[in-house]
Amino acid sequence: MFERHNFKVRTEKNGLLNITEKVKEKIRASDVRNGICLVFSKHTTAGILVNETEKGLVEDMENFLENLAPEDKNYMHNRGPDKNGHAHLRNILTGPGQTLPVEKGSLATGTWQNIFIVEGDAPRTRNISLHLVGEK
Ligand code: ZN
Repeated sequence: MFERHNFKVRTEKNGLLNITEKVKEKIRASDVRNGICLVFSKHTTAGILVNETEKGLVEDMENFLENLAPEDKNYMHNRGPDKNGHAHLRNILTGPGQTLPVEKGSLATGTWQNIFIVEGDAPRTRNISLHLVGEK
């Protein structure tokens, strides 16, 4: 079976925003018991990654992205109306989505694995879709 669920997230600043509980809530409310869940960001300047929530590490990951694609660099893209070249480049590091396992009606990820939106162009309202595929 297949189910699609959507939700919106308001991002106030660039960086990582934990959406794990929102995803878990949608999976619990669905009829898919065993299968996979694609968590997908419908944007080119906000991606999805899976990692730990430890405060220092979150800061490390944000610094890592900032170092690889700094905001104040002279990107070709910034010659147009958009001044968000850094956000597009950060997005290619995470990709737009992650596919996660679902077992017994809940997310079957590891203890420390959380799901984050990686915002590069805040403030924005982001549309996240979940595609759930599996058995009832
Ligand atoms: Zn752009």
